[in-house]
Amino acid sequence: MTPIRDNLDRIHSRIADACAKSGRNPADVRLVAVSKVKPAPMIDEAFAAGQQLFGESYVQELRDKETSVHGPVEWHFVGALQSNKVKYLSGKVALIHSVDRFSLAKEINRQWQKIDAVAPILLQVNVGDENSKAGCTIAELPTLTRKIAALPHLSIHGLMCLPPYCDDPEQVRPFFRLLRELATRIEDEQIPGVSMKELSMGMSGDFEVAIEEGATLVRIGTAIFGERD
Ligand SMILES: *Cc1c(COP(=O)(O)O)cnc(C)c1O
Repeated sequence: MTPIRDNLDRIHSRIADACAKSGRNPADVRLVAVSKVKPAPMIDEAFAAGQQLFGESYVQELRDKETSVHGPVEWHFVGALQSNKVKYLSGKVALIHSVDRFSLAKEINRQWQKIDAVAPILLQVNVGDENSKAGCTIAELPTLTRKIAALPHLSIHGLMCLPPYCDDPEQVRPFFRLLRELATRIEDEQIPGVSMKELSMGMSGDFEVAIEEGATLVRIGTAIFGERD
């Protein structure tokens, strides 16, 4: 067995265990293999092992890999996104996890309008209120959601967070729970064009806790592809 296949198998069984522990259906949790910085052959290897969904953080890197990867993979964009690079993503990514401001949403709307399509997006929330992190503030979220929901070529599918780093995943649990509560509050408003079916949270060090708190997309890099240098 290749290490990547082995790692994927291990992660799937840990996802299944976390689902069993919290009474969830494993089919409701999708694994996003975060392949940033890792070369295309590693993506091919993961694809051969059954992994179809990949997450990238840098636009230029995604463009390069998109042409060199062999399998029909599905790409998600998970990193910080500048408006002037949005044009390179249209028609290529199935979900953008990291929308945190209206100007960016407007540009996504503009680019997807050109291809007569609707961009599925998540709103990234800075749940730890950290200066160093992207994401809208908790206070901004309701207004931002309403403004973005009015754009016709974009549809909000849920929320994403990158909580403060902690060695102990239990210390991250309150941030995951907070994201779920924010999603529930938005859902209760029943805003047209807004669904809160996706919660993108949990990485290599804390994905089981994220699943227990309701994650539907876990973004895992290191535990699949090894350390990034
Ligand atoms: C790199 C990255 C990940 C993966 O982190 P690991 O700790 O390597 O699993 C997840 N989400 C985002 C937004 C990232 O940039």
